[in-house]
Amino acid sequence: MTLRIHNTLSGKIDELIPGGEKRESISDYPAVTIYSCGPTVYSYAHIGNFRTFVFNDFLRRYLKFRGFEVNHAMNITDVDDKTISGANKENISLKEYTDRYTEIFFENLKQLNIESVEHVPRATESIESMIEIIDKLHKKGLAYENEGSVYFSISKFDGYGKLSRLDKRETRTGIRYDTDEYEKDDVRDFALWKASKEGEVSWDTPYGKGRPGWHIECSAMIRKIFGKTIDIHTGGVDLIFPHHENEIAQSEAAYDEKFVRHWIHVEHLLVEGSKMSKSLGNFYTLKDILDRGYSPRSIRYLLMSAHYKKQLNFTFAGLKQADQALARIDNLIINLKYVKNENPDHEGLEKIIDDLYKNFINSVDDDLNISKGLGIFFEFIHTINTLLSENRLSKQNCARIIKVLEDLDKVFGFIFFPENGSGDIDTEKIEQLIKERSEAKKNRDFEKADMIRDRLLEKGILLEDTRHGTRWKKKR
Ligand SMILES: [Zn+2]
Repeated sequence: MTLRIHNTLSGKIDELIPGGEKRESISDYPAVTIYSCGPTVYSYAHIGNFRTFVFNDFLRRYLKFRGFEVNHAMNITDVDDKTISGANKENISLKEYTDRYTEIFFENLKQLNIESVEHVPRATESIESMIEIIDKLHKKGLAYENEGSVYFSISKFDGYGKLSRLDKRETRTGIRYDTDEYEKDDVRDFALWKASKEGEVSWDTPYGKGRPGWHIECSAMIRKIFGKTIDIHTGGVDLIFPHHENEIAQSEAAYDEKFVRHWIHVEHLLVEGSKMSKSLGNFYTLKDILDRGYSPRSIRYLLMSAHYKKQLNFTFAGLKQADQALARIDNLIINLKYVKNENPDHEGLEKIIDDLYKNFINSVDDDLNISKGLGIFFEFIHTINTLLSENRLSKQNCARIIKVLEDLDKVFGFIFFPENGSGDIDTEKIEQLIKERSEAKKNRDFEKADMIRDRLLEKGILLEDTRHGTRWKKKR
């Protein structure tokens, strides 16, 4: 079995070959080098952005699950038109302004149980590396200066358009060019370096005072961190052109080697069936959705459950379904923990688990088809529930199944969700309260017993008094 992922550059589903050289087994490969375009920290990131960030997280988790090592970088764009104008409006320094949104962004990642990556470079801390590339391009005659700005000469780079497959004519139309009104030789040329306007933040360079163009940031950080061709570059589909096309042009023209082997692009997110926009009133930040009472855990589940190459329609009904799916998993765990009887081991369990792993890996290895993988996972849950209801699992069997869930959760990140989510259950606390309630009932203190029941109900925990004592489950 090999992991194959769609590659925007080849237009095909290619095997992932870290380092570019086919090896015998996964453990023989060098660490997978990954770069993901990060946020521009001028405001709150929206739920569409988080689809991509959750995908990045799923990708790195799955690679590790399959036995690869990962070396992953995601940048923070902390200087551009929007951040500068935001800081100016509030009359604070650019750093103070971008630090605020950077902090919120990291908080959001944590809420969604997104792992931290190995490198988080900031644009303003990578200026030297940008100048290094610009110098190289300048010396090779691939960049030219005009009124303190430096532009990349697209006509001198043969491979321009190979990622987006746009021909020359198409790259001229329908594009948002750099808004700044500087003279360019060719309308398609993009700014590597921008002369700063009066009062703007700037860095001293051989080309005068200025600040970086957006595209150069990513090329520079990749060079600085990895120093050579990287295995995977990810981003939303809206970044293919011009951003990623320009990254390729700058890097390959400067260093005469392949920039990225595997380009992975995540499709758009729709909200309630439409493209998200402020005027339609369907523009949501993570906080907006949490404020409506949804848990970050169900948001993570929903964002992750669709195949990355398909548009995802984000709806509140979908979030409720996510809650239900998660409650099924939670209730399974509760039931597994309740098995206290002395049933013999179920002989067939290992085969069921082997099949689960085999089918799950087969599905996700096929272009990261997580929706199919989740289908297989829920089939497994169904099978286990049936065995439980037939009393065919031993205590050891149940412990083994919980280990399997823990293992799969290295990929999912939504089963054993950390404290920060409202979807988590503190089992011990619940058991303690149930004990107190039984005591109260024994002492005929029904008021206290009811109070405890209501308190748990508020937290979405439903109690059931059975002949064998009180059991609990999550309300659907
Ligand atoms: Zn980028």
